[in-house]
Amino acid sequence: MTDWRVPYYRHDLGDAELQSLARVLAGDILTTGVATAEFEARFAHLLGRRHALGVMSCTGAMHLALLALGIGSGEEVITTPMSFIATSTAILEAGATPVFVDAENDTGNIDAARVEAAIGPKTRAVLPVHLYGQMCDMRALRAIADRRGLAIIEDSAHCIEGVRDGVRPGDLAKAACFSFYATKNMTCGEGGAIVCDDDAMAEKLRLLRVHGMNKTGYDRAREGYTHWDMTLLGWKYNMSNIEAALLLPQFDRIAPKLARRHALARQYEQRLSNVPGIRIPATRANTVHARHVFTIWIEDGNRDCIIEELKAERIGAVVNYRPIHLMSYFRERFGYRPGMFPIAEWIGERTISLPFYPDMSEKQVDIVVDALRRIMMRRAIPAHG
Ligand SMILES: *Cc1c(COP(=O)(O)O)cnc(C)c1O
Repeated sequence: MTDWRVPYYRHDLGDAELQSLARVLAGDILTTGVATAEFEARFAHLLGRRHALGVMSCTGAMHLALLALGIGSGEEVITTPMSFIATSTAILEAGATPVFVDAENDTGNIDAARVEAAIGPKTRAVLPVHLYGQMCDMRALRAIADRRGLAIIEDSAHCIEGVRDGVRPGDLAKAACFSFYATKNMTCGEGGAIVCDDDAMAEKLRLLRVHGMNKTGYDRAREGYTHWDMTLLGWKYNMSNIEAALLLPQFDRIAPKLARRHALARQYEQRLSNVPGIRIPATRANTVHARHVFTIWIEDGNRDCIIEELKAERIGAVVNYRPIHLMSYFRERFGYRPGMFPIAEWIGERTISLPFYPDMSEKQVDIVVDALRRIMMRRAIPAHG
């Protein structure tokens, strides 16, 4: 099915990105080079951090951040089951074990009040997710982490632009990790970044992202070949000039696109407020919501048939997320069962992400809301007999 009336997502890359890409193609360096460095400088500046490193995914970013902190085998990282699987698989890739804490029932974010009870002798870090683009309670998490000597790494895949109580992604953590996957607010198809303040950590990440080699292809292109050494076991996650070229023009659009998503979210919220059976996740006070996805919760839990009915009206919708602990791999490896994280499960059975992107029109929001209203009204009328 390709002929969507309202597609779930459309990217906004175009002429500016083509021109930027042309500049990279006109040069000699396709791999990590000047464009990557320029992206990193601008991204670090945007987030107010000393360092940003371009990588090929947020998953890789989280993996490397854990490795750079020396977190691995035999150790535990506290995280949320209400996220994309990558938040937990990055912990497993590092050799550590994810320990889940249930979500807040009105936002879906990790419930900071439950974190302390999950801390054990092997706990090294907390890996929260700013779900849908709304920041977690980082001040509360920071206080716990300070008391118990834990590191914090943020999965900020949904949240470049968010602020809560004056705190932005990366402000209260060792590192914050970002995604430029195809549907994210900034995108180059596949990509990611890590921001941090610590010089030694940044240096280690720089090695870890490219095989632990102490010279790069760019160094060879500038200086000619000299022997390089491998000083630690690294991975192959470096962001190339090609991804960076696609990302660079998008910095100028971050603010206007955020404003546009806020306007669309307001329209959705106002028009959905009198549709029966739909709950809208809460936005906390003192919060700038980054509005990555627009998500509703279907109170009676009959979510899957609503997605089918929307599909029949050629309206795209997806699920963010069915909880991680109930994925087959996690059930089989760790013995997780339904009932263990009831709030994440409640959300996981009810959540629908509606079409949402800056190029969406007011008319398209109305089409989605009208379709939902029809679907929900039909369900609200009890069957005969
Ligand atoms: C997209 C996403 C990721 C993974 O990002 P990649 O760049 O695809 O690795 C991780 N966590 C969350 C919450 C995401 O939405």
